[in-house]
Amino acid sequence: MKRYSVFAVAREALRYHQGWGRAWRSPEPQKKYEAIIIGAGGHGLATAYYLGKNHGLKNVAILEKGWLGGGNTGRNTTIIRSNYLQDASAAIYEKARSLYETMSQDLNYNVMFSPRGVMMLAQTQHEIRGYKRTAHANALQGVSTEFITPERVKSLVPIINIDGPRYPVLGALWQPRGGTARHDAVAWGYARACSEMGMDVIQQCEVTGIRRQNGQVQGVETSKGLIECEKLGIVVAGHTGVLADMAGFRMPIESVALQALVSEPIKPCMDVVVMANTVHGYMSQSDKGEMVIGGGADGFNNYTQRGSFHHVEETVRALIETFPIISRLKMLRWWGGIVDMTGDRSPILSTTPVKNIFINCGWGTGGFKAIPGSGWAMAELMATGHSSLTEEFGLNRFKEGKFIDESVAAGVAH
Ligand SMILES: Cc1cc2nc3c(=O)[nH]c(=O)nc-3n(C[C@H](O)[C@H](O)[C@H](O)COP(=O)(O)OP(=O)(O)OC[C@H]3O[C@@H](n4cnc5c(N)ncnc54)[C@H](O)[C@@H]3O)c2cc1C
Repeated sequence: MKRYSVFAVAREALRYHQGWGRAWRSPEPQKKYEAIIIGAGGHGLATAYYLGKNHGLKNVAILEKGWLGGGNTGRNTTIIRSNYLQDASAAIYEKARSLYETMSQDLNYNVMFSPRGVMMLAQTQHEIRGYKRTAHANALQGVSTEFITPERVKSLVPIINIDGPRYPVLGALWQPRGGTARHDAVAWGYARACSEMGMDVIQQCEVTGIRRQNGQVQGVETSKGLIECEKLGIVVAGHTGVLADMAGFRMPIESVALQALVSEPIKPCMDVVVMANTVHGYMSQSDKGEMVIGGGADGFNNYTQRGSFHHVEETVRALIETFPIISRLKMLRWWGGIVDMTGDRSPILSTTPVKNIFINCGWGTGGFKAIPGSGWAMAELMATGHSSLTEEFGLNRFKEGKFIDESVAAGVAH
């Protein structure tokens, strides 16, 4: 397998960015696509990739109003895990996690998947009960997790303070094959693979309208003109409400800003991912040595892609309690993304009221980990009209009250 260094990965991004590759090309006039995917984030690109790879649909265009992975895919803190409570969630997140294991080989592109282990700290009796319940559910689902003692936590993360003043560490839910991957490499890897299959990845192409006739999609109006298609996938995360409005239906989604920050780089000091959901903060160390820190979502709906001071203070305060050694670190960068939240904190992968329009959204604060599984399932849904992985994630569940309640696994976690 050909290997790529970090520099090669960055060069590739620049190439796409500057339009030297196929990825920049404009739609051919008069061309009608079998399928158009709106949104070149991880989920949109993975959907296109599996449409081609698994279902032979290659006359596909992926339209992106900005640049590849410039939405939440390139802004997240890259935690990958599948320790969800409900069976439908565990199935799709574990499918995704297992696809991450071989993604670099499948795409021939180094996405730097690092299964270093993810732990979710239990810092209250309530959390102990919740995480033990999840560990039992995971055992039945075939997802490898265990509930570990505070001593084991300390041995895995020597820099942690397990006797914190407010919330001592009482144990943790541990997924040894959870971890991280390089976020923008995931987008670039999929984009290159799509491009190699002959698909058009068109950046700087904003969808401004959706053409329909007799309840069926005809094509999309874009900043580069009208493009016709037989099927349409809307995969735009925080902009889902805007696109659904263009297609004439409403979505049970709210858009809020979620933020993250990184510290200056330091020597390796923590080789697992730690999430502390009670005090609310989580942290991992990047290959460059920066401590990658995630905070909470804004408490009000908005479309801002930047952080806010009160969140940084709250997050850093929580983490200093858990990791006193970070108290004198300087912050290097800080940013935000627009996440798409559903009421049950589970995604929507679904047909819609308009024939041949499909929608994939609602991954909220935790969809990076799901990218390959979501793309796999969405492609199956678009190509065949059915996927066992998406069955329970349809829009109808909001009418029928069949919620997939993951507020404990996903509400404040990632
Ligand atoms: C700060 C932060 C931390 C996070 N941490 C984690 C984590 O640790 N682990 C995890 O699993 N998840 C995490 N997430 C969530 C994760 O990033 C998202 O769920 C996931 O990236 C969503 O991917 P996507 O492809 O659906 O959306 P995006 O990557 O946002 O892609 C959607 C694309 O659609 C494009 N678009 C929008 N409107 C239009 C239009 N009209 N025309 C054309 N294109 C359009 C956008 O420009 C965008 O590029 C985090 C998110 C944030 C913001």
